[in-house]
Amino acid sequence: MTADQIIIHVDMDAFFASVEIRDNPALRGKPLIIGALPQERGVVATCSYEARRFGIHSAMNIKEAYRLCPGGIYMHGSYEKYRAVSEKLHEIWNEYATASEYIALDEAYLDVTESAGGWERACGFAREIKRRTLEEQGLTCSVGVAYSKTAAKTASEEKKPDGYFEIPSAEEYIRLIIDRDVRVLYTVGAKTAEKLNRAGIYTVRDIQTRQDEIIRTFGKQGLWITRMAFGIDDRKVSPYRPEDAKSISREITFQEDVSDFGLLRDVILLLAISVERRAARVGLYGEGVTLKLTWSDMKSITRSRLIPSTRSAAVIHEEAVRLLDQVPRRPVRLVGAGIYHLTGENGRQIRIDDLLPEIQEEQQDRLEAALSDMGRRYGLDFSGNLDRIFHGETLYRTIEYMRRHR
Ligand SMILES: [Mg+2]
Repeated sequence: MTADQIIIHVDMDAFFASVEIRDNPALRGKPLIIGALPQERGVVATCSYEARRFGIHSAMNIKEAYRLCPGGIYMHGSYEKYRAVSEKLHEIWNEYATASEYIALDEAYLDVTESAGGWERACGFAREIKRRTLEEQGLTCSVGVAYSKTAAKTASEEKKPDGYFEIPSAEEYIRLIIDRDVRVLYTVGAKTAEKLNRAGIYTVRDIQTRQDEIIRTFGKQGLWITRMAFGIDDRKVSPYRPEDAKSISREITFQEDVSDFGLLRDVILLLAISVERRAARVGLYGEGVTLKLTWSDMKSITRSRLIPSTRSAAVIHEEAVRLLDQVPRRPVRLVGAGIYHLTGENGRQIRIDDLLPEIQEEQQDRLEAALSDMGRRYGLDFSGNLDRIFHGETLYRTIEYMRRHR
């Protein structure tokens, strides 16, 4: 068979949890939950397969996870470690591909069309990737080989964990998914699925049958969904370029140095909102939060922390404040907050915003509570004036006003 493209999708199994278990065999066979601790606010980043048997999954509220499995082992993730492992994995995978697109720390599309030169050899590459990932890093992954990105992703999920699956053609892809829930299609998230279900569309077959109606109702997205339902996806593997890994940040220099860290926390909240707005505009999320401070003697420090992918102002604020709490209390001339290791809409390992509307709402509630509390303290109405505040120079003037009226 001749495919225009041959793509391998590699996805590590329960990545963060597997790394922890590899490094501490006492954890093996236990329900292990990486993410927030039960007494904290937050979500499950990854959990072991034993924890999944209790119904726990990524992006679940940690309180809910604890309710399902109070006997589980709960740990904060060591994201620096995961990133280091991820770099080693990428080195292995890159050997087989002419282009690699990293979707998350533990997931990548590899274009092997030319490097393999044919279907059989591409499948050989895929099996070798599995073998070497296990031998060299002690971790299992699931691998899919297919004629398109979508099908490769479906293939890697097909036999997870430690899976291997091939989908050589659109015909075979359709045969596999035709009677499955619409959510099997890439880009059909919970919200879109709900809309489709309301229209009586539950399976891929329903999409095929009612394609005209779907395109009419959903426009461009509908066109995309119906193409997917027919197995049409000619997107290329777009290689990761270091220049894409920029950050989104916002900083402010005070008119006079600030020694009041309470004020800094408040200012960081406004900076975090600004960062969230910018990130939302360009459709990006960050896998790390940074805090930048310039002291009164002009010396600068930057502190950063890796986190599960987000652009929530509430999370950026909390993480940046956590970093702030760890630096010496000296007069500050400039403060900045931002996100880095940016990923796009589809690149998120943990799609908190789509998967868990209640988490999103909770973050929004926290943000609004913090804003109204802050507004009371400074005699300002933040919630009613947010759009105005983030327009032009107003943020700067607002912060200067806060500094003077603290
Ligand atoms: Mg994974």
